[in-house]
Amino acid sequence: MSGPVHCVVDDGVALVTIDNPPVNVTSQAVRQGLQRALDQAEAAGAGRVVLTGAGKTFIAGADAREFAAAPVEPHLPDIIRRIEAFPVPVVAAINGAALGGGLEVALACRARIAAPGATLGLPEVTLGIVPGAGGTQRLPRLVGLEAALSLIGEGRIINAHEAEDIGLMDAIAADPVTVARTFPIPDRPATGALPAPPPDPAGVEAARKQAGKRSPGQIAPLKAIDLVDASTRQSLDAGLALERETFLTLKTSDQAAALRHVFFAERAAMAQGKGGGTDIGSAVVVGGGTMGAGIAYALAGLGIAVALVESDAAGVGRARANVARLYADAVKRGKTTAGAAEAEQATRFSFHEGYGALPPADLAIEAVFEDMGVKREVFTALDAALPESTILATNTSYLDVNRIAEAVRRPERFLGLHFFSPAHVMKLLEVIRARTTSAETLATALRLAARLKKIPILAGVCDGFIGNRILTRYRQTCDIMLMEGALPAQVDRALRGFGMAMGPYEVQDLSGLDIAYANRKRLGWRTKDGFRYIPIADRVVEETGRLGRKTGAGWYDYDGGKASPSTLIDRIVVEEAVRAGIARRAFSDEEIVARAISSMVEEGFRILEEGIAARAADIDLVMIHGYAFPRWRGGPMHHAGRVGLSEIVRRIEAFAVEDPLSWGVPELLRRAAQEGLSPDDLKASQ
Ligand code: NAD
Repeated sequence: MSGPVHCVVDDGVALVTIDNPPVNVTSQAVRQGLQRALDQAEAAGAGRVVLTGAGKTFIAGADAREFAAAPVEPHLPDIIRRIEAFPVPVVAAINGAALGGGLEVALACRARIAAPGATLGLPEVTLGIVPGAGGTQRLPRLVGLEAALSLIGEGRIINAHEAEDIGLMDAIAADPVTVARTFPIPDRPATGALPAPPPDPAGVEAARKQAGKRSPGQIAPLKAIDLVDASTRQSLDAGLALERETFLTLKTSDQAAALRHVFFAERAAMAQGKGGGTDIGSAVVVGGGTMGAGIAYALAGLGIAVALVESDAAGVGRARANVARLYADAVKRGKTTAGAAEAEQATRFSFHEGYGALPPADLAIEAVFEDMGVKREVFTALDAALPESTILATNTSYLDVNRIAEAVRRPERFLGLHFFSPAHVMKLLEVIRARTTSAETLATALRLAARLKKIPILAGVCDGFIGNRILTRYRQTCDIMLMEGALPAQVDRALRGFGMAMGPYEVQDLSGLDIAYANRKRLGWRTKDGFRYIPIADRVVEETGRLGRKTGAGWYDYDGGKASPSTLIDRIVVEEAVRAGIARRAFSDEEIVARAISSMVEEGFRILEEGIAARAADIDLVMIHGYAFPRWRGGPMHHAGRVGLSEIVRRIEAFAVEDPLSWGVPELLRRAAQEGLSPDDLKASQ
C-alpha cells in the first residue's frame, strides 16, 4: 500500500506502521491511511492489530500546518472511536514520542507497550488548545484524576517509566512491536468504558490555582482542567462532545494563534544551527563572574574544554568558586552526581591568571566588566595569545561591537554572543553580527547555539541590540508616566495585569538600580539634546542609595522580602513633577499598558527598519525569552498585529502630539499599516 500508513498481515496479526517523516504527525493523509489499514486488517480477518510508528516517533501530534484551517475528514476522534470499538484488540507499540493526538490514539488501544526511550504527553495547552480527540476523557479513566490533571493541565511530557508507574503503559520493552504481537490483553474494558474517577473538587481547585500561577492569563490550562473535571461527572459521550466543542473554540482563539506563532518562530530560529559552520571543541572564557562562570559551565556540559581567565589570583579564586557553586547546585537538583561533577571540573576546566599559559582554542568569549577600555584591552591580549583561527566573541550587553572588533587583527572572526543571565539556563542568545563578521563565523556560532539548545537570534549592532534597546525604551516610557501622574506600584500592577511576569520597577529592584544608572550615564541622558530626560531614577540612586533588594530598598520598601510602596519614592516622583511644571493626572491601567507596549512596538519597528533584526518574529522571541513578555500574547510585534497596526499608528500619533521628543511613527510601521501587512511576516528588507 502506498501512502504514509502501511499494513502487513502476518500470522494473524496486522502490523500497521505510520510512516510520515519526520515525526509522524496525524495529517489528513495519515488519518485516511489509518482508516484504510483498519479496513484491510478487518478484511484479512486478523486476530489483533499492532499499531506503531516508523523512525524515532510513534505519533508526535497533529500537523501544526493544519491548525489554522477548518478540520477535514476523516476526523481523528472518529478514527480513535473505531480503534476503541474494533472487533479485535488493537495494541499500541510505542516506539518513540507519543504526543497529543498520538497519545490519544494510544489511549484508545487495548494495551500499550513502550520502548524505554519513549516520551508521552498531552502538551496541547502549551499551544493554547486542549486535547481534541478524547485525551481529557480517557486519560483520567485510565490513570486517575490527579495524574490526568497534572499531565493535561500542565502539558507535561513524561518518560516511559513514569508512564508505567501511573498505569499509562502496560509494559516497557526494548522491541515493543515484537512484544505487542503476543502481549496478553489486560482483563479490563476498553479505556472509554472504564469507570470515571470520583470527583475531587479540592484537587481540581488546587490544579486551577497552580495553573493560574504558572501561566497567568492563559485560558487553555483552565479549560483543560475543567474538561478533566467533567470526566468525573458526565458520560464519556457527553465529555467527548464538550471536549470537541472546547477544542474547536480554542483553536481559533487569539491565544492559540499567538502560541502557534511563537512555536513556529522558535522552530525557525533553532533550525539556523543546522547549516554549516564547524564544531567548537575548546574554548577560552575571560572573566569568571556571574556570566563568565555560567557560560563556561554550559560549554563544559557539552564536553568542551574550557580555560577560564581572570587577571589576578583573587579573581581566579572567585571564578573557581563560582563554577563550583554551579556544579553543587546541579548535584543538589539531582542533575548529576557529586562524583561526576568533580570529575567534570577536574578534566574540562583550567584556570588562568592572565594569558601567558593559555592553550589554543576554537573560541574565546569575553565576559569582563562592561567597559569599552577594559574590553578592548582583553581582546588585544586574546588576539596576541590565541591562534589566528580562534573565533573571538564579546558578551557585552550594550557596547558597540564594531568598535571592539577594531581591537583585533581578525575582524572577520569576531562577533557578539549576548547570553542572558543565568547563562546556563536562559534559552535566548543574541548573536551580534559586526560589520566585519564573516558568514562562516556566524554559522559556527549558530551551530554552537544549537548544541547548547539555545534560541539564537541574529542581531546587528546598535546600543543594546534588540532586547536591551527595547527594554531601555520601555523603561523610559514608564518613567515618563511617573512624571505625569502614575506611581511605580501602579505601573507594575498594570503591566503584570497585561501578563508581564514582573513590572519594570520590580525587575529593577531585583537586578539592581545601579546597572540602569550606569547605562544612563554612559548614554549621557542628563545632557542629551532632543531627548526627554526624566531625573527620578537618577535621584533615587544618587540621593538615597537605594539600589534594590540587595540594599534592602529600591523602588519599593522591603520588610522581610515583602515589597510595599515607598513614601520616600512617591515624594521624589511628585517633587520632580512639580519641578518640571507638570500637573499630575490619573492614569488608568489600560492607558499605562497601551503606552508602555506601544513604545516597545515603536522601537521594534525601528529595529526592523534599521535591519538590526531580520524578522519581526525574532523581536517577539527576544522579548518573550529574555524579558518575560507573555508568550500567550505572541510577543510585542505579534500583539501589535492583533491590536491592529492602524490602531498602533493612531496611538503613537496621539502620544507624539503630547510628547514629540519621545514618539514618532516609524516609516515601516506606517507602510505596513497602510498595506495591511501582518507583522508576523515582516522582514528587514521590506
Ligand atoms: P561580574 O562582575 O559578575 O563579572 C565580571 C568578571 O570579570 C569578574 O569576575 C572580574 O574579576 C572579571 N574581570 C574584570 N576585568 C577583567 C580583566 N581585565 N581580565 C580578566 N577578568 C576580568 O559581571 P557579569 O554580570 O558577569 O557581566 C560580565 C559581562 O557580561 C558584562 O559585559 C555584562 O554587560 C555582560 N552581561 C551581563 C549580564 C547580566 O545579567 N549580569 C547579562 C548579559 C551580559
